[in-house]
Amino acid sequence: MNRVGIGYDVHQLVAGRKLILGGVELPHDRGLDGHSDADALIHAIADALLGAAGLEDIGCYFPNTDPRWKDQPSRVFLEHIRALLDRQRAKIINVDATLVCEAPKIKPHLLAMKAVIAEALMVTTAQIGIKATTNETMGFVGRREGICALAVASLEIS
Ligand code: MG
Repeated sequence: MNRVGIGYDVHQLVAGRKLILGGVELPHDRGLDGHSDADALIHAIADALLGAAGLEDIGCYFPNTDPRWKDQPSRVFLEHIRALLDRQRAKIINVDATLVCEAPKIKPHLLAMKAVIAEALMVTTAQIGIKATTNETMGFVGRREGICALAVASLEIS
């Protein structure tokens, strides 16, 4: 049986934080705020995978009240989810995601992000799609107040 799931996440850009997206640190004057490393891209992918498997959302598995996840790299969430999917006999067909942000430029980092995510999920980089777009200066993303990410995931459950 093939299943799909959708994920969305947004985090606020604030001073004094590193900007981590797709498990990669990007040079920028601000970073995303959150309990973990606030990696919106990985969080959206995590929710897409959990949703495709019919499981509960990322906040249920990795609550921001649990000190275990404080300042953790979000790559760890993907490793946990991969183990959950294994237990469900769910095989990842592909993941596709879009980052929406005005700055910094994402393209130079796409391959590194794909490598981190593919390794955490134990799939090939060809199974991971990541695109980036701006919000054409409109809204909170356009004002550079935050970064959002959307993702879909497809699973084969035997
Ligand atoms: Mg998040």
